[in-house]
Amino acid sequence: MFFICDLKIVSDANVVFIDAILKHHGLRECFSEIHTNPSFIDEEGRLRIFPLHDFSKHPHGCHHPYPPNMCKGIVIERIQASLSAMEEKKTIIYMGDGLGDFCPSSKLGDTDYMLPRKDFPVWDLICQNRSLIKVEVCEWSNGDEFEHVLLHLITKMIEKNNTNGDTSQLYSNCKLQSISGAA
Ligand SMILES: [Zn+2]
Repeated sequence: MFFICDLKIVSDANVVFIDAILKHHGLRECFSEIHTNPSFIDEEGRLRIFPLHDFSKHPHGCHHPYPPNMCKGIVIERIQASLSAMEEKKTIIYMGDGLGDFCPSSKLGDTDYMLPRKDFPVWDLICQNRSLIKVEVCEWSNGDEFEHVLLHLITKMIEKNNTNGDTSQLYSNCKLQSISGAA
């Protein structure tokens, strides 16, 4: 039986940039969902970017620091709703560094994990607002530390679930990839 991590991207960049980066590194197939601002390149070769949420008509009422075009908290709530419809209990591991990552952090539960990049804006906000955060926080500073923290959490989950996971498969699948893993 394999231990499967479902990887999703929640980003305030845009579809064209993210697709180009993932395809360049051969990683597009690693991600089940990409939540970001729609974009395309027009006939004159200009990049056109649109907001994920139409904030001019429907302000989404988020009080946390966030870009008005995208509240990652709303995206995380939708992901949580889809996970809660599943039979098996899922754990979210969320990795981020920007101001816009605080709102989703405040929506994660006490069985989830938030991995903020140390000394970056979301880490500062979490340190200043611990009472708003239920999720377990594991900080990291560079790629090696992030990999170590992520693999430690996944190994812990495998042991907890007593799953006979094939860890070599697991390690190659999860190495240095970002947003959420479900266990
Ligand atoms: Zn928000």
